[in-house]
Order: sequence, then C-alpha cells, then structure tokens
Amino acid sequence: MGAVNDKAKNIFEQMFTDFLRKQEENLSCQICMEIVNNPHVLWCGHFFCAECLTGHAKALVKQRDNPRCPTCRVIHGRFKPAESYVLREQAYDLRQALQIPQPERGKLKWPEQFIPTERDRDEPLPFRIRPTDTLF
Ligand SMILES: [Zn+2]
Ligand SMILES: [Zn+2]
Repeated sequence: MGAVNDKAKNIFEQMFTDFLRKQEENLSCQICMEIVNNPHVLWCGHFFCAECLTGHAKALVKQRDNPRCPTCRVIHGRFKPAESYVLREQAYDLRQALQIPQPERGKLKWPEQFIPTERDRDEPLPFRIRPTDTLF
C-alpha cells in the first residue's frame, strides 16, 4: 500500500507543479515577464501590469503613436484599459503558492491623450448613450 500511496503522491505533486508552471506562464506580464501586478486588460484581450502599461503608453505618446498593444501591436483608438479583479486575484494566489512576496499594487497613469473625449465616446457605439449610462 505504501508504494501505491507514494506513487499517487508523486503523480499529484507532478500535476500540481505542472499546473503552477502553466499558471505562471498564463499570468505573466509580457512586458516585465513577471507575474502580473494589478493587471489591466486591453480590447484585444492582452493584459499587463498597471505600471508596465503606463511606461509603454508614455513611450507611445513620446513617439506620437496611438494606443497600441505591446504584444499584438493592434491599435485601440482612445480608450482606458480595464482593471481585471479576477486576474489580480489569480496572480495573488499564484504568488502565494510559489511563496513570492506580494508586491505593492502598481498604479495606472494613463496618458491624457489616450483618454476618450465625449465626442469620440459616441462614435463606436451603435446607439446613443443615455444620461444614466456609464462608460469605462
Ligand atoms: Zn509587467
Ligand atoms: Zn494585444
């Protein structure tokens, strides 16, 4: 019985190690390559640390380039990246499991030039916004 239990334990340990490795890959910021800190999502679905995204956006403004995803290079037009609570929780749990200290939560400072104006906000929507509507 002991040998069987040991074998089962080894299989579980291997599965858990593989799972953590996969999670680490999935939850890595493609700018700093670390487990993402305060993840923000772009329209293309890619996400990055708030501070990495801030640095990237600042560089784009300097080059007079549009908001552009660092990974797939797609242009987004004026928008504001959305904070992902789910990814943030997952990243927190993963660091916990890997015994990596939790970093201080990074802040997003999105450039003024990339924030939609009222006029731009209307354009991509199929219907007029109502006074009670909130946009992100
Ligand atoms: Zn990052
Ligand atoms: Zn992208």
